[in-house]
Amino acid sequence: MLLLILVAVTIALRPIAVTGTPMKLRLATSESFRNIIKQSERKLTMTEPIKDLEHPLMYWPFVAKFTKAINFANTHFFENRIRVSETYRTLARQGELYAKGRTTKGAKVTKARSGESLHSYGCAIDLFFVGHDGKYETQLDDYKKLEGIMVMFGLKHIRWADYGHYEVATSLNLVEIYKASIKKGMTHDQAVKHIHQELNRERVFFKAAESGLIV
Ligand SMILES: [Zn+2]
Repeated sequence: MLLLILVAVTIALRPIAVTGTPMKLRLATSESFRNIIKQSERKLTMTEPIKDLEHPLMYWPFVAKFTKAINFANTHFFENRIRVSETYRTLARQGELYAKGRTTKGAKVTKARSGESLHSYGCAIDLFFVGHDGKYETQLDDYKKLEGIMVMFGLKHIRWADYGHYEVATSLNLVEIYKASIKKGMTHDQAVKHIHQELNRERVFFKAAESGLIV
C-alpha cells in the first residue's frame, strides 16, 4: 500500500518537477541575458565627465584663478547661475569624444585626440549657465559677458570650442611638452606633473620679470 501511495505521489509530482525545472532555467537565462545587455550598455555609454576641481591632476594655480574669477562673476554679474560641467578628463574619455562624428555616431565635438586636450593635463575647465529655476540654459550674451571677466582674470577662452571652455593662458605648447614627455618614457601622470612644473617655471619667470629682477 505504502509503495502504491509513493508511486502515485511520484507520478503526481512529476509534471510539476518537469514544468518547474525548465521555468527555473528560463528565468536564470533571462537574468544573465539582462546582465549581458547591461554590460554592453555600459560599454556603449560614454565615460562620465569628472567635475572635481580638486582632482589630483588639476593644475592648482589655474583652479585657484578660475575659482576666484567664477566667484566674482557669479556674485557681481550672474546671480550664482554658473556651474562647472567638466574639469580633468581621462585619456579614455577624450578618445571617446574624438571618435564622435568620426568613427561613432553624432556630430564632431572636439579637434583634440586622446592626449591632446588641455583637460587631460588638468589645465582646462568647462562651465555652463543655469536659469533661475536651476535648469540648463544657453544664452550667448551670458557667455560673451563672462568671457570679458575671465580674460580680465588671465584665463583663456578658445573660440572654436564650446563657449564654456576655459584654459590656462600660457606661451608654452603644452601638447608638445606632453608628447615629448611620453616619448621619453614618462607615464601620463608624470607627463602631466611635468607640464605643471613647466607652467610654474613660466610663472616664476614672468613674476621675476615684472618685479624687475630679470631685464
Ligand atoms: Zn572644454
